[in-house]
Amino acid sequence: MDPQDFRFSTQISHLALDIGGTLIKLVYFSANGDNFEESSDGSIVVRSGCSVVEGRLCFAKFETRKIDDCLEFIRFNILHHSSGVKHPNGTAMDKLSVKATGGGAFRFADLFKEKLGILFDKEDEMHCLVVGANFLLKTVPREAFTYLDGQKEFVQIDHNDLYPYLLVNIGSGVSMIKVDGDGEYERISGTSLGGGTFLGLGKLLTKCKSFDELLELSHHGNNRVIDMLVGDIYGGTDYSKIGLSSTAIASSFGKAISDGKELEDYQPEDVARSLLRMISNNIGQVCSCKHFHAFYRKLEAGNFFFLIGLCNFLYCSLQIAYLNALRFGLKRIFFGGFFIRGLEYTMDTISVAVHFWSRGEAKALFLRHEGFLGALGAFTSYETQSHNNDLKSYHHTVEREIVNCSDDKIRHMPVTANLNDGETIECSINLV
Ligand code: ADP
Repeated sequence: MDPQDFRFSTQISHLALDIGGTLIKLVYFSANGDNFEESSDGSIVVRSGCSVVEGRLCFAKFETRKIDDCLEFIRFNILHHSSGVKHPNGTAMDKLSVKATGGGAFRFADLFKEKLGILFDKEDEMHCLVVGANFLLKTVPREAFTYLDGQKEFVQIDHNDLYPYLLVNIGSGVSMIKVDGDGEYERISGTSLGGGTFLGLGKLLTKCKSFDELLELSHHGNNRVIDMLVGDIYGGTDYSKIGLSSTAIASSFGKAISDGKELEDYQPEDVARSLLRMISNNIGQVCSCKHFHAFYRKLEAGNFFFLIGLCNFLYCSLQIAYLNALRFGLKRIFFGGFFIRGLEYTMDTISVAVHFWSRGEAKALFLRHEGFLGALGAFTSYETQSHNNDLKSYHHTVEREIVNCSDDKIRHMPVTANLNDGETIECSINLV
């Protein structure tokens, strides 16, 4: 993203950052221009009587390895426009302290201070993920949806029946968090086989340079060329006794064992497809481990087929399966993190895996602002810290604005689009 491409005619405030291993996510409030007027000294003041300012939440992301682009973006588009913003009572807003979460809030604190004069007010990463998810689920209508058989269906969230749920955040790695209420959560497990694995292995195996290139490539591939299917082992038939069809993957990349081929002999698109399927499938499995535990016992009992089928994931999945099996079954699993990117194939694979492994008891749900949970959590902490009551009116206003203004836009959004890039949420914010 060329930082110079983004010029705002409106006023920016309340920036929050989530600096992850792969991506930096930004959420900021951009007020409508008519809320402000220029004072004689050139600074911008909020019109008197307008302490509740109308505007929108904006989202942006940058690759962490290109952090300089992010610094430029903030310098040109955010600091520039927020400089001198004053409250009607004349006091200058604290523009230099910014909410930040993720490991990069620690790693890059000195850089932001040195280059931009910004001090990070750090918020805990897991806390922000949960707060961000709860915020979206309670506040933004048509945020959560299911995806099965190519059909996207929005789910009406009943605020009184939201908890408990499992939040699975698929970023560079994967975190699984059991959420029991506002501020009540526990990270119950995770796996290192996440979006970073897909991107890292994909780059090595296909020579793709970016996530988008890898995804595009995977669209044109056929995983069956490399994956060992149930039918490959069972002579073309299903393993019907336990409900596995002949087309189910028994072992990701398993055909490479005996194909006698080198990497160059495979098409990169088939490799990319296999990789995407492997990561999505695995996450779907480890999320619904109640029944996976039974599979583990079958493995222990010497069921060789499962040993072959799961050999790629044994180390990670079985540990996770074991841990999660100790927990009671959570019926709703919300997926966040930038790995999903609203991609049909990924969502379909995860949904099918959750459905299969939970025997239809659990449901995979996706979020339109999936990649910005942490940043949104950090953003909303501006509200909770200073004035608790305002958070309620803030939520209220977001809801009203979305219902009135954006319903159509949301409904007509194609599911394949990069849903949360460039999209804004209309809201108002209390500057008191
Ligand atoms: P983190 O906070 O660990 O950086 P994210 O939720 O931001 O995690 O997700 C990062 C993952 O999202 C990457 O590992 C990759 O699989 C995927 N991804 C999606 N879009 C991109 C992109 N434009 N560039 C790099 N990775 C991307």
